[in-house]
Amino acid sequence: MLVTLKDLFREKKDHALAGFNVFGYEDALMVIRAGEATGEGVALMINRDAAAHMPLRYLGPLLRKMAEDAKVSVAVHLDHAVEIGAIEEAIASGFSSVMFDGSQLEIPENVEKTRRVVELAHAQGLSVEAEIGSVGYSDPNMKAKHRYTEPEEAKSFYEATGVDCLAVSVGTVHRMTEQKAVIQYDRIAAIQQAVDVPLVIHGASGAKDEDLTKMSHAGIKKINLGTCLRLAFGHGMRRVMEADPEIFDRIRIMQQAMPDVQAAAEQKIRLLG
Ligand SMILES: [Zn+2]
Repeated sequence: MLVTLKDLFREKKDHALAGFNVFGYEDALMVIRAGEATGEGVALMINRDAAAHMPLRYLGPLLRKMAEDAKVSVAVHLDHAVEIGAIEEAIASGFSSVMFDGSQLEIPENVEKTRRVVELAHAQGLSVEAEIGSVGYSDPNMKAKHRYTEPEEAKSFYEATGVDCLAVSVGTVHRMTEQKAVIQYDRIAAIQQAVDVPLVIHGASGAKDEDLTKMSHAGIKKINLGTCLRLAFGHGMRRVMEADPEIFDRIRIMQQAMPDVQAAAEQKIRLLG
């Protein structure tokens, strides 16, 4: 069933929603299967890499139909849009939720653009996520500053924009291939004290398993995971090809690696649950 992020937050009263970056049909299907196996709704998220590879107007209808056919609630979410044009394309392509990432802008410009996104998206029934502070990248090709979120700026940003959820910078970094992030629980608590809005953690592949459970139980509402599934799929395909050097058919290669993706997604969902 296709839903918005807001619907999923209502569904998950006492733990966080898992948002997974997916890059096409195969990993999207495995995330849905992981949701169905655990009885948990999930968010399928399209990041800039995915959108650069396949346009949103192709991805949106595919993921939307897959969400509609799923036995659990599924949000189809655009992750890290930096242009209003991408938001408009996502709205037109059937996404149920969007993130506007103004984290690299000065705060007044972030506020102004996020407000426009909220107006556009809410008018069409989509949920909106935005970012205050900045979650950096461990990937040197990604040029983004890293800055922790201050509780007071989270409060004023939320009050000025009316977003449905807020991504905050509290110790994680995107694209970590090892689980080494140090989570600042004091900062999370201070932000929660200052503002009553669902909080989102990006870059959670770098968080330790016990921190995923702890953050979920500390009231974080959405936890974004991308790299862990990319690793599972990539390593799985390598294993298949090394086991059979003659194999060349991409469908056979992917089909044999897809269960690895489902297993990785299920493991993370269970940690949050
Ligand atoms: Zn992110």
